[in-house]
Amino acid sequence: MSETRRIGFIGLGNMGTPMAANLVGGGHAVMAYDIAADRARQFAQAHSARATESLAELAAHAEIVITMLPTSREVREALTEAQGGALAENLRRGTIVIDMSSADPVATRALGGDLARRGIALVDAPVSGGVPRAKDGTLAIMIGGDAATVAAVKPVLAAMGKNLFEVGPLGCGHAMKALNNFLAATSSAAASEAIVIGRKFGLDPAVMTDVINSSTGRSFVSESLIKQHVLSGVFGTGFALGLLAKDVKIAADLAEQIGIDAPVGRLVSQLWSEARDALGGEQDHSRAWAHWAAKSE
Ligand code: NAD
Repeated sequence: MSETRRIGFIGLGNMGTPMAANLVGGGHAVMAYDIAADRARQFAQAHSARATESLAELAAHAEIVITMLPTSREVREALTEAQGGALAENLRRGTIVIDMSSADPVATRALGGDLARRGIALVDAPVSGGVPRAKDGTLAIMIGGDAATVAAVKPVLAAMGKNLFEVGPLGCGHAMKALNNFLAATSSAAASEAIVIGRKFGLDPAVMTDVINSSTGRSFVSESLIKQHVLSGVFGTGFALGLLAKDVKIAADLAEQIGIDAPVGRLVSQLWSEARDALGGEQDHSRAWAHWAAKSE
């Protein structure tokens, strides 16, 4: 067990709840805040933690603040705008903020500059592995930030993840995460297309999945998504369509911002954004497969 730290955890959603639970399990003193106050309260009741509806109170408690929010927009809002900017106004100098959301690396660098002027350090540490690995504390964590600050927070991150990668200065974690999810989203869109084509020609999608899993087309999608969530009709990965569409767009936008022509990124981003607009961002992302299959009929 690492040294006990006083942690303010913001965003008790699908991922944040099990991650914060593992921090409590790691011996840390967690105070939880969510814009949906009942989520923070439920978390506090279920674990040995406190909940607050006041960002000033959270600031007074925390030596480390962790955000696990949908996008960069909510991260900036929670830190610098909500309740009159109470969090950034009241955080002590030397506090470290760890943004574990899958956020926009360019926005993260801008936020890092704003917080640094207040004596607050920012680390980006997005995760991969989904809800199951958030629960068992084995997330992959991609960490960006200044080396000394990263070293200071690694024992805390170790309570939530197994593979901790230091990938570069601030923003690199978020860039890495967006690029990883771009690959996963590409694999998913391509596999969906392959199944639609195969089914129409007379192949059985379950047999196709078995063949792919023993062949070179194998991926996380073929091993853990197609049968478990799509063919079964479960559609229950716990990862929302709007969040994946956001991640792919971050990767496509990043390419554009740094002057790289990324035609695959543009196309895949368009496919996922279109599915989100048709179905609604809150749907499970695996439902995009049903949408694409219906469109091709
Ligand atoms: P979620 O929607 O389940 O949870 C987000 C939480 O943030 C909610 O409880 C919501 O009420 C709260 N919130 C929203 N705006 C807020 C604000 N301004 N202030 C305070 N709280 C606010 O999302 P999630 O699935 O837990 O994902 C969180 C982040 O992790 C996203 O960036 C997502 O892309 C990323 N991620 C998700 C998964 C997954 O499998 N679900 C996996 C890896 C990474």
